[in-house]
Amino acid sequence: MHLGALPCAACGAGMRRSRRALGERLYYAAAYRCDRCRERVRASYFDYLREARYAACPKCGWYDLVLQTRRDRIDKLNRNPFRLLQWLFGAPLYRCAHCRLQFYDLRRLPRRKARIKGAGA
Ligand SMILES: [Zn+2]
Ligand SMILES: [Zn+2]
Repeated sequence: MHLGALPCAACGAGMRRSRRALGERLYYAAAYRCDRCRERVRASYFDYLREARYAACPKCGWYDLVLQTRRDRIDKLNRNPFRLLQWLFGAPLYRCAHCRLQFYDLRRLPRRKARIKGAGA
């Protein structure tokens, strides 16, 4: 999931990772600058979310998640500011079935129906 592989929209040259200002870090996951025309592009966290459609564990990458109605005090909660920001937007709380990490994610759970045998196309 690296948006840096994209060519510059203005001239088509390769983009290079650029440093983010302090204020930019709150909203943008990454910034890129074109080597040739100096065009600068920023990718927000929400661009990343759109790219990855389904919720996945931030630690081990598994899609085996359990929707939590209440926070479990024993299991760990991901306190990444990006996760807490999603909580502010009303994201549901998920728990990874593998590492038991709890985290907020605005994305939907992947459809499990596709895995059921004989469920059709
Ligand atoms: Zn360019
Ligand atoms: Zn996990």
